[in-house]
Amino acid sequence: MAKVSRDEPLLEFNPKLPKLSKNEQAVLKLLVEAGRLIVPIYLEQEKLAQVKIDKAEIERSAKKDPSFSSPYTSVERLNGKLVAIPYHIKYAAPLKPVADKLNEAANISDNKEFGKALKIQAKVLLDGNYEKAWEAWLKMKPNSLDISIGPLHHLANQFFFPKAAYHAWVGVMEKEGTIRFNNYKTVTLSARRKTLTPKERIDPASIKAIVLDAVLFAGIMARTKFVGLTLPIDVNVVEKYGVQATLFNQPNDLRLKDQILPTFNKIFSKGFKEGFSKEDLRRGYLRSAALHDLAHSYLYYKNAAKNLGDDFYTVSELAATVLGLRLAGYLLLKDRITEKMLESMIVAFISRSVYLMREEDKDNKLMSNYTLGSRIFMNFMFESGALKEFKDLIIVNFTKVFVSINDLSSMLESLLAHGTKVDAGSFVKKYSQ
Ligand SMILES: [Zn+2]
Repeated sequence: MAKVSRDEPLLEFNPKLPKLSKNEQAVLKLLVEAGRLIVPIYLEQEKLAQVKIDKAEIERSAKKDPSFSSPYTSVERLNGKLVAIPYHIKYAAPLKPVADKLNEAANISDNKEFGKALKIQAKVLLDGNYEKAWEAWLKMKPNSLDISIGPLHHLANQFFFPKAAYHAWVGVMEKEGTIRFNNYKTVTLSARRKTLTPKERIDPASIKAIVLDAVLFAGIMARTKFVGLTLPIDVNVVEKYGVQATLFNQPNDLRLKDQILPTFNKIFSKGFKEGFSKEDLRRGYLRSAALHDLAHSYLYYKNAAKNLGDDFYTVSELAATVLGLRLAGYLLLKDRITEKMLESMIVAFISRSVYLMREEDKDNKLMSNYTLGSRIFMNFMFESGALKEFKDLIIVNFTKVFVSINDLSSMLESLLAHGTKVDAGSFVKKYSQ
């Protein structure tokens, strides 16, 4: 049975915010109140996810009624019979006050477009027409305040798989970071367009890139503490309305302190460690997350989810990381980053990978795809000779890492483009021993 930590799935960060108008402050307060109301809904989902229902039985039911395989239904046994209850019906009562808060915020907001999107979001929570909300959010001009709230269908969601889990994030746009993120987007997008990619790939209608100072994470976001996220994952919605890649500053600081720094201190030699300050690693990890999420936008493949089955999540997450590091190479060519910055990204990512591998048994199942991806990455690098082990320490040859990343990236992308379940399964098995 999957283990879930017992503390409340709510994180309230206290970031130093840019100056907000009186109106923005009032709207922000209501958004935070709406976000907090997600906690009991998510806790109920965690409770239900512990009741194991045979996957084969769900698949059999889905053949007769596709709502069983929808990410937005709760599959339960009622009087011995399996039923699929749409989320917006099952959670109608606790969702009502959430919608009320969003409407209240919409009514007072000076930003009419944002207000309109909030109203649509409130309505969608109660009628289940999620695509309408994507349309509103993705078409909207970037705003100083940002919220995402409702059932989150995401690649990392192995614990609830294939179901969405309730979440909320509320944040305030960090202008400088957002400008930098958009610079990265421009450079990498034009580099990517010069390369030949398999024809099965989908180009998003648009790519929004935003850096937020996180104010609140609730539900599954508080459990996973994502540093970055690219949404939505539904290829059809992406083709129609585009994607948003979002980065969060405070969760990056948290991951640095709890995971990256302690592992970094253990796995590298004294001399090597002197080359990287805490700030190098903080920026390095945030940059690698930024490029991971931009890479996601460039890796939408029409039938990948269906073709690769359960391994799709592991393959696509690792593919994004590795393509991200490759794309960082273009930033280096254009003098947007230095070699030292590129090395810091790799060192931060290796530290995080080793952290996940060592914590596997203790950590919760929400991160299992990333743990598996880390294992594949590290084994691949050791096999190629890019990394070596010496007396419990890891020796890094950055040039060789870069050469190997190219190989790994091509292998992963061809799996996404035209791999089968068997191909993905044998690749994952070979490198995750
Ligand atoms: Zn990802």
